[in-house]
Amino acid sequence: MTESNAEWFERAQKVIPGGVDSPVRSFRSVGGVPYTVASGSGAYVRDVEGTTYIDFVQSYGASLLGHAHPAVIESIRAAALDGTTFGAPTRGEVLLAEALTARVAGLEQVRFVSSGTEAVMSAVRVARGATGRSKILKFDGCYHGHSDGLLVAGGSGVAQMGLPGSAGVTEGAVGDTLVAPYNVVPNLDDSVAAVLVEAVAANMNLVRPAENFLRGLRDECDRVGALLIFDEVITGFRLAQGGAEAYFGVRPDLWCFGKVIGGGLPVGAFGGSRSVLSHLAPLGPVYQAGTLSGNPLATAAGLTVLSRVSEDDYQALSVRVAGFAEELRAAIAASGLFALTPHEGPLLGLYMARESFTEPTNIEQARVLCDNGLYRKFFHAMLERGVALAPGSYEILFVSMAHSDDDLRRTVEIAAESAAIAAQL
Ligand SMILES: *Cc1c(COP(=O)(O)O)cnc(C)c1O
Repeated sequence: MTESNAEWFERAQKVIPGGVDSPVRSFRSVGGVPYTVASGSGAYVRDVEGTTYIDFVQSYGASLLGHAHPAVIESIRAAALDGTTFGAPTRGEVLLAEALTARVAGLEQVRFVSSGTEAVMSAVRVARGATGRSKILKFDGCYHGHSDGLLVAGGSGVAQMGLPGSAGVTEGAVGDTLVAPYNVVPNLDDSVAAVLVEAVAANMNLVRPAENFLRGLRDECDRVGALLIFDEVITGFRLAQGGAEAYFGVRPDLWCFGKVIGGGLPVGAFGGSRSVLSHLAPLGPVYQAGTLSGNPLATAAGLTVLSRVSEDDYQALSVRVAGFAEELRAAIAASGLFALTPHEGPLLGLYMARESFTEPTNIEQARVLCDNGLYRKFFHAMLERGVALAPGSYEILFVSMAHSDDDLRRTVEIAAESAAIAAQL
């Protein structure tokens, strides 16, 4: 009765396109058969064959406390006993909205949705409704979910597949989306409703914002009356308690959240000042809705996560990640490969090459490194030795609060061995 990853993936491919519900999970870009997860606990996941991995995927950042945290599970259980969805206001959504607005300066109101994609899509709609303008500007290599108008020049799986956008998206849908290179402040005019940015670009591997980039965006938006939207689906409640604004000292007009705020359940949120959000129905003419929005299980899980982390915890995790980043870099460099492990707060990137290189500042530079073929070798060597990295070179590493010093030390040792294997021609 032993189960195998191969068998489950076979079955999956028959009934789910590519065997997955999100493309990167398919291992297409690294080759091989994905492991099918049976369970997770803290820093670890276990597959259906019983193999345990130190997990740096962590649901691409959705789990901050690690998998199956007892307090989170208990809050979900307690919420479920009272019913899972009603289509009426619940206390949980009020409590989570209060928690978010208490932590992020300038964030006065939020509305919950069920994914990061929806959060960004809705924030853009509000921005257009509030300004009466149509164009939005995004940066090449930033990922903002899979809505039509935002897939153009996307990061993550879109970058991995080398796609300019996606089939099935009409020219009309992207006609109002302007694309600019990351880390260069664009010149705007008064046709632009909003500038949408990942304050730290974490879907083209890790690309950090240059000094004054975010400040420059703020000033340029103010100059032409455009709204600045921070897509904080990754950075929110991970970079710092107050998010990217607290970390970089630049305040956007609209925020998008997801991942961490759902505690591992499907949630997104978008928010801003009361005056901007007054354009939303039922107060204003911008329509937005959702059957499962503000779901009691998800808001309970998210609230539990947020209530268990303080600013000190973020600082402590950032310090640990900085140490880990340097050890990881050194371990890879010992193989003769060149490596950089840029980090911002607890967000950690990984670039490897055979020649020396400088830290990428945009997708063009990141692409050269992400596409050089080394990552797939390194990835498989790590996986065989019990460390699960994301199966794509455009993703980053997520160190959760559950990763122990010993987990990180073992990962560094395994990285040294794995780099030596990847370095062989
Ligand atoms: C993951 C992600 C999204 C999309 O969130 P989903 O929950 O996958 O729809 C949007 N923006 C950023 C920056 C993300 O990392």
